[in-house]
Amino acid sequence: MYCAKCGKEMDDSAKFCPSCGADASGETVSEQPAQPAQQPYREPAYVAPAEPGQSSGVGVGALICGIIGLVLCWVPIVGLILSIVAIVLGGKGKRTLPDGKRGMAVAGFILGIIGLVISIIVLIAWVVTIAILGSVASWALGSML
Ligand SMILES: [Zn+2]
Repeated sequence: MYCAKCGKEMDDSAKFCPSCGADASGETVSEQPAQPAQQPYREPAYVAPAEPGQSSGVGVGALICGIIGLVLCWVPIVGLILSIVAIVLGGKGKRTLPDGKRGMAVAGFILGIIGLVISIIVLIAWVVTIAILGSVASWALGSML
């Protein structure tokens, strides 16, 4: 049977509801409380199968170049080139791909921009480091002479 107060199922011999403590004698209903009306069956929305081919390849390429460019952004020229490729491919994909397939191109484009920014910062850091090392080396040489 079910509790009249809270609707929880409980033992037929129980005197009190284990859930809310209501007196079970005489105040119980033997039927399950009314279920909410069932949702009418809906046809699942038709999803067009993905078309393999060049169109989505641009998005995949942009994403892959963006990821690798970001991973290799600490390598001065490699990260820079890969990030630029990701931005170019991603930008092309954003223009040419249909709405549903633009996600990867956009992701590659964004990763490419992040990778490009980091690559430029890393490149500057390398140049500065080399310049400092160079001046330290020449100072050391100069003080030795
Ligand atoms: Zn109860």
